[in-house]
Amino acid sequence: MSLSNCRECGKLYLMERSFYCLDCKKEQDELYRTVRDFIKQNPSLTVLEIHLQTGISIAKLLEMQKDDYSPFA
Ligand SMILES: [Zn+2]
Repeated sequence: MSLSNCRECGKLYLMERSFYCLDCKKEQDELYRTVRDFIKQNPSLTVLEIHLQTGISIAKLLEMQKDDYSPFA
């Protein structure tokens, strides 16, 4: 464990397994769940199409794609 800045809001927090502080982690988890469910129902969609249909920014989706806990896996 070490101190780190939250990737989303920049707040200092104790880093365990997440790049986000607790508050942002909750939001991220929800976003991930949304994307995961969406992909499950629409497995052939591209990032652009997911963006257009969910309203989640492309930058955020690309970030998710690179994550260890990627909903795209
Ligand atoms: Zn945060």
